[in-house]
Amino acid sequence: MNKKFRVFATCDIGEAIDVLRHRGYEVEVYPHPEAPSKSVILNKVKSGIDGLITTLRDQIDAQVFEAGKGTLQVVAQIAVGFDNINRADANRYKVPFTHTADVLTEATAEFAFFMLGALARKMWTAEHLTRENKWGYWHPYLPFLGDEVTGKTIAVIGTGRIGLALIKKCVGFDLNILCYDPAYENHTFIAAIQEIANLRHAHGLTREKTWIKYVSFEEAVRQADFVSVHVPLLRAEESSTPTYHLFNERTLSLMKPTAYLVNTSRGPVVEEAALVKALRENWIAGAALDVYETEPLPADSALRDPAIADRCRLMPHFASAARITRLSTDPNKGMAGRCVQGLIDVLEGNYGGDVTKMPYVVNKEAFAK
Ligand code: NAD
Repeated sequence: MNKKFRVFATCDIGEAIDVLRHRGYEVEVYPHPEAPSKSVILNKVKSGIDGLITTLRDQIDAQVFEAGKGTLQVVAQIAVGFDNINRADANRYKVPFTHTADVLTEATAEFAFFMLGALARKMWTAEHLTRENKWGYWHPYLPFLGDEVTGKTIAVIGTGRIGLALIKKCVGFDLNILCYDPAYENHTFIAAIQEIANLRHAHGLTREKTWIKYVSFEEAVRQADFVSVHVPLLRAEESSTPTYHLFNERTLSLMKPTAYLVNTSRGPVVEEAALVKALRENWIAGAALDVYETEPLPADSALRDPAIADRCRLMPHFASAARITRLSTDPNKGMAGRCVQGLIDVLEGNYGGDVTKMPYVVNKEAFAK
């Protein structure tokens, strides 16, 4: 390489930074665990960096692209999803941005499933009983019971990468599966899952025959014992089927009073005020959240109401937080590895310098010839 690329990372992404340094890059890493302020990012970009490594916490918009006009060549985001990056602005300034889809699919899907289990079987409340020394007797139903997962019906809202990965895990628990996705119905995948379910039944591994099918949103939400959400955050101006506040008073009231909601997608997909009302008034049995309208979850959030604590699990945007998933330097395994590979592809002109051929670039449309 004849040019020494300069990169600023808004957070430490572990050993993957060394991958860049070993290639001769000059990399500066923001040293604090909290996100840098916008002005820190703007100053770094203005200083002429070639590449910017970002997280969901950084707002990347026209101001940033203007500051990097003529020098900033790539924004590499360590996340799947990029609702913090203004795509139209990136396209206007012709700056490609990358994300790390796929490598966190299984980790996120399994976490959603574990949240669902912990919620329905009241694991948090049960452990508190033990820890607080309130476990005074064995009793058939006191002080409380949970609900089984096996053999129930789940609605998977959004059958993209993570939704489909969740479905694979649901098969092992003999769940019936209702799928909803307005833009992408994968009937080949659904047929394969049905075949496996039939085989399990034929071999006597399950007592009841289980099924999987695509249905409308209303049918899915009305019939399910569990509703798991796997959609991108899309606001009204971005899609004809927006997901902003997809779960609101109207749609939450469609759910069965015995049903549970699990959200590992993006916070604003669920209107929190409506959810709190639904939990307080027992419209639904419970909810497990990994993402929030404001992150980190504010101290005064109504979701923290002790009156609903036994029915409301609150995780700190943690679904992809597994060692290999987050930090592996292998672009086929880790978000960090995929993030730096996306950056290298653009800066070093891999794929013959054709941005539209680079696998991790999102906004390819801005570079179509
Ligand atoms: P994906 O793009 O592969 O799948 C999303 C699916 O949602 C697509 O099939 C799309 O057609 C569908 N969809 C769009 N609008 C919809 C609507 N109105 N109703 C139902 N479905 C709709 O994305 P993915 O890799 O499966 O990730 C899904 C989302 O999960 C990401 O966008 C991200 O926001 C979130 N995520 C969160 C974490 C976490 O740590 N909690 C980790 C990874 C991803």
